[in-house]
Amino acid sequence: MTVTPVIKVAVPRPIYSTYEYSINPTQGTPCIGGRVAVPFGKSREEIGICIQAQIVSERTDLKSIIKIIDTEPVISPKMMSFAHWISQYYIYPLGEVLFSMLPSFLRKGKPLRMSDSNRWELKDPSFENKRAHSQTKLFHYIKENPRASTETLLQEGFLRETIKTLERKEIICQAATEADYLSQIVRPKPSLEQQLAIDTISCSLGTHQTFLLEGITGSGKTEVYLQTIERAIAKNSGQALILVPEINLTPQNLQRFKDRFGDCGILHSSLPPKQKLDEWIKCKNGVSRVVLGTRSSILTPFSNLRLIIVDEEHDTSYKQSEGLKYSARDLAVKRSKDLGIPLVLGSATPSLESIQNQKLGRYNLLSMRSRFGPANLPKIEVLDMRKENQIDGLSHSLIKAIRGCIKKRQQALLYINRRGFSPSLICKKCGYQFLCADCDTKLILHHSPKQLACHSCERTHPAPTECMKCSSNELIPLGVGTQRIELAIERLFSDTGVLRIDRDSSKSLKSLSTLLGAIEDDKPLVLVGTQMLAKGHHFPSVTLVGVINADAGMLSPDFKAPERTAQTLVQVAGRAGRGNAPGKVLIQSYQPNNPNLRLLVEKGYSNFAEQELVTRSQSKLPPFRRLAIIRSESSDPEAAQRFLELYRDKILSTIPLEKKSLEIFGPLKAPLGRIDNRYRFQLIVLADNAKDLRDSLWQWVPSTSQKNIKWTIDIDPQDAV
Ligand code: ADP
Ligand code: ZN
Ligand code: ZN
Repeated sequence: MTVTPVIKVAVPRPIYSTYEYSINPTQGTPCIGGRVAVPFGKSREEIGICIQAQIVSERTDLKSIIKIIDTEPVISPKMMSFAHWISQYYIYPLGEVLFSMLPSFLRKGKPLRMSDSNRWELKDPSFENKRAHSQTKLFHYIKENPRASTETLLQEGFLRETIKTLERKEIICQAATEADYLSQIVRPKPSLEQQLAIDTISCSLGTHQTFLLEGITGSGKTEVYLQTIERAIAKNSGQALILVPEINLTPQNLQRFKDRFGDCGILHSSLPPKQKLDEWIKCKNGVSRVVLGTRSSILTPFSNLRLIIVDEEHDTSYKQSEGLKYSARDLAVKRSKDLGIPLVLGSATPSLESIQNQKLGRYNLLSMRSRFGPANLPKIEVLDMRKENQIDGLSHSLIKAIRGCIKKRQQALLYINRRGFSPSLICKKCGYQFLCADCDTKLILHHSPKQLACHSCERTHPAPTECMKCSSNELIPLGVGTQRIELAIERLFSDTGVLRIDRDSSKSLKSLSTLLGAIEDDKPLVLVGTQMLAKGHHFPSVTLVGVINADAGMLSPDFKAPERTAQTLVQVAGRAGRGNAPGKVLIQSYQPNNPNLRLLVEKGYSNFAEQELVTRSQSKLPPFRRLAIIRSESSDPEAAQRFLELYRDKILSTIPLEKKSLEIFGPLKAPLGRIDNRYRFQLIVLADNAKDLRDSLWQWVPSTSQKNIKWTIDIDPQDAV
């Protein structure tokens, strides 16, 4: 009997199993965490990751691998165990998790090469090797040109192999970026609150602790990050990772990091693939010392990570909504725990989960309650829309305030969370409302270009001139969107500039930064926009913020809606009065006595959050229980529903009686029951703790490729009804 060496491979397919392959002795030995090409199913060649090597198997029917791609792991042992944990927690196939950790070039099988922007210096200055002529030549070149980049070396005619050989022999090594910048930093003197936060976090370097840095907008959280990072990376080539919701939306923020640390590493999804690979390698090698990244950067390997910061930790963009539905903030907690390093969660409006964790003693609270310098928090006022005259959704009082603002040559910002001209078009004669034929949604009227658009399936139709039912030509747009507000402002204030910022006006990210860059601080201007405009920007001349409609969010059936609405309102309000002149915020509401709104406006976010936690606790919702949503969709509504019924029954039949901690609702029609003619259902599972939830869901993981049905599991969902 012959015993063949066998390895276990995870492939990036929606399947919950891993596969064994045999190795032909001539192929060499693959390393754990390295890539191999394997035959898989009908596809001739698939790239997988070796997750276990040298298994002794007596099976003779195994296919053998096609080739070994890596001689060194692309997934380190630490990242491998992180991937296993993620796969278990999010009930997601291991192969897919592993591939989420790799830049696209590596996913496609391209070689793990060195980064072209790496710089090189001598490690062993005594090198002498008369026979290896090219190595000696490279050695002398680097001796005379320390910090030469790979790119330069290649241009000088040196070969990658020669560079690699000298590195392997430890004759040269990669130089850290701007090793000498730390001594040249000019840093402002921290306030007392800032100093306390910086000292407390720095003291815990080398151990794990999570800090909840709750600081009102403009209190100087970013400065705390900057000075803490400086201490974290000072020793032993330490690295720091800062997660931000979106890099492109806040070029000002990025510039502050660059001013302080020189060349920062940058990781986000719209980087060109080659640059992404480069940045990824620099993190892995320890060359990038300070790295700014969006959600997916929490899945990047580091050689000596000493600090993680999650800015605006409450932001919903940290949760991935497709595929592996992870929360980058939650993964940051896990990763920092595993690495034994401090984690800072910063926000002016912390999530209820984080507040609850802090109350339970899992997180340490650091508060910053005053704005830096002369700026004060703006005054907030609620306008009773039942009593106001209005033009295109703008109340008389708000128009008056805008006029006053322009007169003083200041700027106003109007926030409305709806793009387009009007969210519905109705026939005045018969009441017919234009709906999408393929989705359970209204069609949104757009002005430029003039059309009806479905925001669910993205289909568009030319704007109609008459009713589909009674042919009347009296069609009225009901409600307002950003375009309608923009046009109204142009009409009312014809000699003042208006700038609309939403997904339609800034299709490309470049145009968004051009739009933002064109804002001149000393010119009166009215900014109109969605969420995009509310996040993180610093507009020093904005003194007035108008919220066009605060009601929709507070009244939504989603139990998380009040929390999210409150966070957005505080963030938008925080855009007012960041410069020298004081700010003012006007909130238009048809329900000015809504208790949530009143509490927020009169007592502030912390009091609102306290009250909201009481509500959640009474209804036993997260963070007091753990939640998962299993979703299904199909062109056949019965099939979609039946699948979830089966799922429910499987879970119920496998739960031991003592596991009373589990509660299941549904299957129910999803809030948006039909998109693009696919019917959507969901099953809601609540459990007393994460383990019970996970254990019960792992009882039955059917193949993810069901005939005609797409299904997903969402753990700790963001949109939950
Ligand atoms: P946050 O991140 O909490 O919104 P920032 O860090 O952006 O606040 O600080 C708000 C403003 O105050 C910025 O313009 C920043 O440059 C300034 N600032 C913060 N800390 C200091 C300090 N210690 N000395 C001088 N200016 C500071
Ligand atoms: Zn009609
Ligand atoms: Zn549609």
